[in-house]
Amino acid sequence: MDIASVAGRLSADLARRDLKGRIALVEERFSGRLVFTTSLGIEDQALTHALALAKSRTEIVTLDTGRLFPETYDTWAETEAAYGIRILAYAPEREAEEAYVRREGINGFRHSLEARQACCGFRKVEPLGRALAGAEIWFTGLRAGQSANRADTPLAEADEARGLIKVNPLADWSREDVDRFVRDNYVPYNALHDRGFPSIGCAPCTRAVRVGESERAGRWWWEQEAKKECGLHVHVPEAAAAVEPGREA
Ligand code: SF4
Repeated sequence: MDIASVAGRLSADLARRDLKGRIALVEERFSGRLVFTTSLGIEDQALTHALALAKSRTEIVTLDTGRLFPETYDTWAETEAAYGIRILAYAPEREAEEAYVRREGINGFRHSLEARQACCGFRKVEPLGRALAGAEIWFTGLRAGQSANRADTPLAEADEARGLIKVNPLADWSREDVDRFVRDNYVPYNALHDRGFPSIGCAPCTRAVRVGESERAGRWWWEQEAKKECGLHVHVPEAAAAVEPGREA
């Protein structure tokens, strides 16, 4: 069976289970390397909680861009202590970071879309590639309701370019579902969520949202809505383009 068919069948089977059952099904069905990339945002905290309680063999990793909020590092430490786990860090290559900052300046991502995508490229996309190398399953905390760009997010999908299946166990959850789960289970979460930040990324590229704005309106707020992704959750050819300044994503 090809990878798209495997993902389609998995998606249908996951739809009939709750979060705990979804994790268990993936673990039963796939014997290879399982990786969860957490941004330490509230959806990811819910998934970390479920994986930790299930004593899952899934590796929990994060992309430490070097530009995260202090509150995000606090959440990282608090989560490790609460669950007795280690969240594995993948950081940018030092030479790429030094070259970028010398060329564009410390906040050079504000200059143009290409400069922003290049920054996300070496700080996020390239480390993600190392984090997922050899993985069979990539767990994410994506939800369809997070933005118009994510409205079609399924429970499982084929990532043909990376040769793996991406599993989004919270794809059909609402934000209220996530908040309720976190509250009911005393899950530690980033203090910024209580200060108007529904979505939290790098500090210089995230602001609080105003009443009535979408959940991801505070991410790269100076850009057009359709361009507001960092390159992690797009097909690999687009992600690769994001690494190279001067190319259109
Ligand atoms: Fe760079 Fe901003 Fe992307 Fe973070 S979110 S990697 S600081 S452009």
